[in-house]
Amino acid sequence: MTRATADRTAAACAEIADLGAGPGSIAGSISVSTDRAQLVKVSSDWSRMSPVLQEKVPAGRYVADAVVRPTRPEQVAQVLAVAYRHDVPVTPRGAGTGNYGQATPFDGGILLDLRGLDSFRLTDDGTLVAGAGARMTTIDKAIRARGRDLWMYPSTKSSTLGGFIGGGSAGTGTIEHRTTSDGLVVSATVAPMDGSGETFTVSGDDLTPYIHTYGVTGILVEVEVRTDPARDWTAVYTAFDTYDELVAVHRGLTGLSVLPRLASADEPALVPTLTASVELDPARFSLRVIAESSTVDELRALVSGGGGDVVAALDDYVETDRLSGMSYNHPVWFLQRAHPERNLFHMECSGEPLWDRPDDVREVYDGPVHIHLELFRHGPGAMVVAEYRGEQALLDGIPRFDALGVGVHSPHQWYVDRNVELAIETARRTDPKGLLNTGKLTATPPVDSRLNMGVR
Ligand SMILES: Cc1cc2nc3c(=O)[nH]c(=O)nc-3n(C[C@H](O)[C@H](O)[C@H](O)COP(=O)(O)OP(=O)(O)OC[C@H]3O[C@@H](n4cnc5c(N)ncnc54)[C@H](O)[C@@H]3O)c2cc1C
Repeated sequence: MTRATADRTAAACAEIADLGAGPGSIAGSISVSTDRAQLVKVSSDWSRMSPVLQEKVPAGRYVADAVVRPTRPEQVAQVLAVAYRHDVPVTPRGAGTGNYGQATPFDGGILLDLRGLDSFRLTDDGTLVAGAGARMTTIDKAIRARGRDLWMYPSTKSSTLGGFIGGGSAGTGTIEHRTTSDGLVVSATVAPMDGSGETFTVSGDDLTPYIHTYGVTGILVEVEVRTDPARDWTAVYTAFDTYDELVAVHRGLTGLSVLPRLASADEPALVPTLTASVELDPARFSLRVIAESSTVDELRALVSGGGGDVVAALDDYVETDRLSGMSYNHPVWFLQRAHPERNLFHMECSGEPLWDRPDDVREVYDGPVHIHLELFRHGPGAMVVAEYRGEQALLDGIPRFDALGVGVHSPHQWYVDRNVELAIETARRTDPKGLLNTGKLTATPPVDSRLNMGVR
């Protein structure tokens, strides 16, 4: 963002442009752009969901000096070597759907757009090897045609696999496979920012400092992830008159003979804003389940025994995608979009009090508080939505969640919040000049950046 950084970035980009052309070049194009409109666009993400981040990282305040888009894996290490020589900060970016501002280029430099690394293949062992920029919608379609299911994908399914592993954590598939840190990744090819121009491969426990650390320890160039044999999935819409009835069924879902892929629930206030393909009664609580098709009768029995109704059971796979698109942060976004005048924010929460003491959870903030539920293997997760009355009022809720025994993570800050000490130790080796995604990695963040939700 300073003149000096801009000059160094220009010098580095002149070299980078040559990587894709001329004698000795790396085959495959590599684009470099300094178009201001494009720079502003790719320099922000979905942090606009947070009123706090809207103030702290509004679009246009922190803008990269250049966007570099490689198309071949080996180009990434080369780009980093040039940036290292010129002391240029580099911020990796996939589809830019992260909602914490964690891909904001605070110090300008290069925004590394990884969407050109989009090739992928299934191995004979049934794992998937994919370029970091491959989109999960594309991958899922292709591998299902070959009899495999992704272990997990977020509600932003069109985001990239590298961005999901670098910045996401959970989604459709989480009930069975937990989080991105729990065995999803078999191995990763990482490009460090150490001047080497090389990549290295990590697997097993050595993957830990590279998952959900926003690229501060190295750029994920290619990842190998586990898949499952493809199953038939059915999108099931159910409705209940009371929260307690809904909860009894929600907590019973892990007893189905095959674990569901997703189980999202909303109270009536959120129901009219959902993008459902069937008509939902806005006076009732909605629970939507992606159930393995052979368990639909079990689910029907559970729902009717619990006093609810099955509104629809749709066995078209596209309908399960629609259910995913109404999970996790999406219902919060739908409510914000429908009611901009309410200036809503959310906190990410987990723990049994969300099922058992919803009224106490609603007391955490003044004004109407809404609960969107998800199901984790060990209990419920939730987006708790309230009206924004300033950052301090938002933060004051955290000890109240603590007192209730509710795990909480604030999506209103951009600091690396998993395995921080290990990330710092790793980055000393892989990013000795501290040029990767600057401003995200610190042992002493100035705001509450805990992650005690029970998802790792
Ligand atoms: C409405 C909404 C719903 C969401 N739902 C979910 C959900 O269900 N589950 C969930 O986990 N998240 C969710 N998210 C957050 C986000 O969409 C996902 O985590 C998504 O998978 C991020 O992928 P991306 O390609 O958009 O990454 P980006 O936003 O581009 O990047 C995410 C982070 O990873 C870093 N990064 C990107 N690529 C790489 C790489 N190759 N190597 C290293 N670091 C990299 C970036 O610097 C950034 O810090 C949601 C967000 C929104 C706005």
